[in-house]
Amino acid sequence: MEGLRKPKILIIYTGGTIGMIENPDTHSLEPFDFTHLIDNVPKIRMLEYDIDNIQFTPIDSSDMGPEGWADIATAIADNYHAYDGFVVLHGTDTMAYTASALSFMLQDLSKPVIITGSQLPIGEVRTDGEENLITALQIAAATAPNGRPMVQEVAILFENYLWRGNRSTKMSADNFNAFKSNNYPRLARIGLGIHFEETSLRRVTTDTKRLHLHTKMDRDMMFLDLNPGMTQSTMEHLLNTPGIKGIVMRTYGAGNAPTEQWFLDAISRTVERGVVIVNVSQCVNGGVHARRYASGDLLTRCGVVSGRDMTSEAAITKLMYLFGLGLTPPQVRSLIGMDLCGEITI
Ligand code: ASP
Repeated sequence: MEGLRKPKILIIYTGGTIGMIENPDTHSLEPFDFTHLIDNVPKIRMLEYDIDNIQFTPIDSSDMGPEGWADIATAIADNYHAYDGFVVLHGTDTMAYTASALSFMLQDLSKPVIITGSQLPIGEVRTDGEENLITALQIAAATAPNGRPMVQEVAILFENYLWRGNRSTKMSADNFNAFKSNNYPRLARIGLGIHFEETSLRRVTTDTKRLHLHTKMDRDMMFLDLNPGMTQSTMEHLLNTPGIKGIVMRTYGAGNAPTEQWFLDAISRTVERGVVIVNVSQCVNGGVHARRYASGDLLTRCGVVSGRDMTSEAAITKLMYLFGLGLTPPQVRSLIGMDLCGEITI
């Protein structure tokens, strides 16, 4: 009977601290294979799930990028109908980028893709990896009263919280609660039980069976972080980076930037060249309100597009995704401010 069927979960292991082991010679942590990881979590067998795994060559997530994201997204798409949910084990350093990229690549996703990892390797006595892995599996298997998956999006599970993937940022290099979504409520709180926040969870309204996979990401994007005192030559040099198509400009406060004429002229010339410049705030909480201050308004007049309350991670992967679809700069400009998969508040 369908109701008694064991949940089927696919674990995709990409590396990160969770599976790392100390090199006895250098004492540095190095990626290790999946068997080592699972052998350290015998409790997994207490979950009555059918669990399969795919292991990629384990890497430190500093080496993760568009090819790795495409591999993960393709593995999910290829196995989409065979599994109830997916758990991606990943390093924490670029986890928020991967979560954002996957959310764009897996359009119309209606099953859980839960990304987790840990701050301490799973073989260590005080590891957070065991709990994170088990909770991620439970979330990937959770169903709503109507039998549909409780989570129907890409999410990051870390310690006590489940966050929307494309709203998350790594906040701490050593706290077990390493992630936070500063502009969107948590999807679940993990305490004695797993308490889902149903009003925050994404629900797809279209045909729930069809996943649309897009793996092409355009890499000609970059961040431009403003700092007081930045010289004209530095600014011109960065804006004229050869081949660049999109820039996520990280501005002050509610989206403000210098008002000097050389700065505004340099921005205008870049926009006129067809480069899409997206304005996101250096503040982790709140976002761009382009018209609140005259300086932000000037940027809008130069053709800079507001990234509103998007994270930097979501903004840069959204640019990669939109240009990867082969869209023109005007098309990318008009889609940046739209909500594609819960990454922005309209
Ligand atoms: N450097 C590691 C990584 O991102 C850190 C971690 O997993 O926590 O792969």
